[in-house]
Amino acid sequence: MPELPEVETVIRSITPKIIKQKIIGIKLNWDKTLYTHSESELNKSLKNKCISSVSRRGKYIIIHLQNRFLIIHLRMTGKLIFQKKNIKPLQHSRFEILFNDKSKLIFTDIRKFGRIGYHENLNFLNNKLGLEPFSKNLNTKYLYNKLKLRPGPIKGTLLNQSIIAGIGNIYADEILFKIKVHPQIPAKTLNSKKLSELILATQSILKNAIDSMGTTIINFSFDKNSSGKYGSQLKVFNKNNEKCQSCSNYIKKIKCAGRGTHFCPHCQKL
Ligand SMILES: [Zn+2]
Repeated sequence: MPELPEVETVIRSITPKIIKQKIIGIKLNWDKTLYTHSESELNKSLKNKCISSVSRRGKYIIIHLQNRFLIIHLRMTGKLIFQKKNIKPLQHSRFEILFNDKSKLIFTDIRKFGRIGYHENLNFLNNKLGLEPFSKNLNTKYLYNKLKLRPGPIKGTLLNQSIIAGIGNIYADEILFKIKVHPQIPAKTLNSKKLSELILATQSILKNAIDSMGTTIINFSFDKNSSGKYGSQLKVFNKNNEKCQSCSNYIKKIKCAGRGTHFCPHCQKL
């Protein structure tokens, strides 16, 4: 599933192409993709609206339309592809935004888990999501207060979008390796020094991943078929039975917080 760096990469790739575009309509090819309106309702609402900007909150893409918001979650296999006029239809197209100049923004989604909603404000996102990883308010005090009552493993806490928004399975494993914390350690036992390391590691790993345009393991691509380059910098994720770059012991894969989790048993002791 695309995580924060991949979503940010998609936004950076589509923004210059769709900004200031005037919408003439939408086309819905898979009803469940659009969870707030019917095709005809949204066609009425969006007609003649202009895209003013595109932003991100957690793993959500937000298209700003003159005080209204189209909010997109790519989930497993969703992709946003910009097409100029007169190009053949794309496979797995679920939703299309049609522009005045005959270009389109097409949401393709093989597995059909991706969702798009049209909202008057961003309250529903802000109510369910925690701080952004690069927020100035993300500090040890915030994390301490959020984690102090959580007996569950730190891995699950990093995946919990209501604490820090945007981290998924790949980057959670990389962050914990960087600060040498075992993924199964109860979140509430981390001291403030470790919490501080956790914040810095989160920010540096996500920033590097954004600079590398994300990680492509299976599905992620942007533009027509560009892939992320951060895969070559991964230290533990997807490296089961490979040698740890720090200590030469072998990386292990376990199930933690319901997810396949990679770590070095020597560097990250329980
Ligand atoms: Zn190691």
